[in-house]
Amino acid sequence: MAAERHQAGLKILEKLTTDAYQIQEQVLEEILNRNAGTEYLRGFLNGQCDKQLFKKNVPIVTYDDIEPYIHRIANGESSDILLAEPVTGFYRSTGTSGGQPKLIPSTAEKDKGALFQTLKESVMNKHFGDLDKAGKSMQLLFTKQEIETPSGLPATPATTSIFKDSGFRNIVARLYTSPIETILCSDNNQSMYCQLLVGLIQRDEVGSVGSSFASTMLRAIKFIEDHWKELCYNIKTGHLSNRINDSGCKNALSLFMKPNPDLADSIENICGCKSWEGIIRKLWPKAKYIGTITTGIMSQYTAALDFYSGGLPLVSSAYVCSEAMCGINLEPLSKPADVSYTFLPNMAYFEFLPVKKDCLTKFLDQVQFNGVAHQESKEMMSSIEAIEPVDLVNVEPGQCYELVVTTFAGLYRYKVGDILMATGFYNNAPQFQFVERQNVILSIDAEKTSEVDLLRAVTKAKALLDPLGFLLTGYTSYADTLSTPGHYILFWELKTKESNDMKEPDPKIMVECCSSVEESLNYTYRMYRKETIIAPLELRVVKQGTFDALMDYYVSQGASMNQYKGPSCIKSKEAIKILDSRVMGKFFSAETQF
Ligand code: AMP
Repeated sequence: MAAERHQAGLKILEKLTTDAYQIQEQVLEEILNRNAGTEYLRGFLNGQCDKQLFKKNVPIVTYDDIEPYIHRIANGESSDILLAEPVTGFYRSTGTSGGQPKLIPSTAEKDKGALFQTLKESVMNKHFGDLDKAGKSMQLLFTKQEIETPSGLPATPATTSIFKDSGFRNIVARLYTSPIETILCSDNNQSMYCQLLVGLIQRDEVGSVGSSFASTMLRAIKFIEDHWKELCYNIKTGHLSNRINDSGCKNALSLFMKPNPDLADSIENICGCKSWEGIIRKLWPKAKYIGTITTGIMSQYTAALDFYSGGLPLVSSAYVCSEAMCGINLEPLSKPADVSYTFLPNMAYFEFLPVKKDCLTKFLDQVQFNGVAHQESKEMMSSIEAIEPVDLVNVEPGQCYELVVTTFAGLYRYKVGDILMATGFYNNAPQFQFVERQNVILSIDAEKTSEVDLLRAVTKAKALLDPLGFLLTGYTSYADTLSTPGHYILFWELKTKESNDMKEPDPKIMVECCSSVEESLNYTYRMYRKETIIAPLELRVVKQGTFDALMDYYVSQGASMNQYKGPSCIKSKEAIKILDSRVMGKFFSAETQF
């Protein structure tokens, strides 16, 4: 049955990718037929459904442009000001990477999500064999409590809405180790504890482990580090800790809690080892892969996950945002740095604003290998200036684009805020690597340091710590413009590989790390540093657990743990306070050598 479903899924995938152009045309036609009469589109199209007119007249917008319409719907106006179909709720985006959480309209339409899931599963089965037979997935999934808009419409993260859907409830027991009650528990700590406990109890039946984004997977490892003795005690005695007071969790766990001293001993032996290298494979010996997104800003976590994984492949299966489901990774075994997502033309109408430069990623690679010779041109290229958008099937491999979507749920030519690089085609559907969020920028003066600039610089600098046995488990930054001259401040959380006790890093090496980051930054940055328009870069090493505290803070502010993406640049004063209160050491770059 499952095998047939997956075969059918692969066939659909072939058809969708082969007919990409026609399907995109149909999608736009359908969206216009449904919605040309809405207040929003009438203003540009005069009620006409013409596709060319759409491209000529409808402006490319950001969230800020459409927010007034969304607020009107959230406050009780009829949703037909934006789309013909009734809005049944809103998806709340995380808001950590680019700024404030957004409210994205959603409708009752669920078919696309179900198809996307089937296609993803079909691809995974093709590469990993029959996963139904390989065992369940210990996928750590989290929900957030729903909030209501003044008009009574629910606003939840997209993933929460999926997990609460009856369709998901029907498959959860078959596919996942976590009982639905533990996923729906909105206390993330209780949820994590229970999901890990049942995952450990069923460790011999686990075919894969994972979480939506890599940062949550690392948090889970830290959680086991902090709680393994208690988890083992629960397994040994068959009694659940009193810390778990959520009734749903307690009921669900009662079905699993039987004294099992042998299992507890095995887990204790594994967790009691000094080094946690390969811990994931040791704890879940039958797991075939770790399913978690490690592309984009999440690539900062691949080194740490590789350390814990014991050689299990890291699989980033899809590129999805609250606005639209976009693409699937057809080669799940490819290395995180090589992952491309194949866009599915039936999910939304996609357009791509060429970013006026050669592709950033390719270019930065060159910079890394060729040294400073290219810095000036890199700087020239880093001004992101958009020109006319191109259609899905017309993108050119090697070129970077900003993604623009038109959806069935009321977004028209809407900039998602992601920069992607076209890498090739599968049949006629293009494939993209995720490059970066568009608006995450550090700046003191006229220099601009993007998310990917910083990631590259940090990756290079942290290599200095590798031979000393340190792992960088999290970083973020902010531009301190209050001091004169201003300077960049980086926060790093480190961990020693050979044991869970943290030893102090050598100050000399940390100063070298500061200088290394600066050397990798762009020409203008280095010029300003030389002219002391920018003060030396500062690196603040924070205590272990700081980035968990940061995640807790953003979750308390409305972000979903499931969709959480640690910000690479922070603007919130509160968040900076959290980091500052946990600083163990401060280091500054030495005199400039530029
Ligand atoms: P949210 O709407 O809160 O779920 O966040 C969606 C955003 O997460 C996207 O716009 C991307 O910036 C990021 N994202 C989603 N999927 C991926 C992926 N596979 N790789 C890198 N970043 C991703």
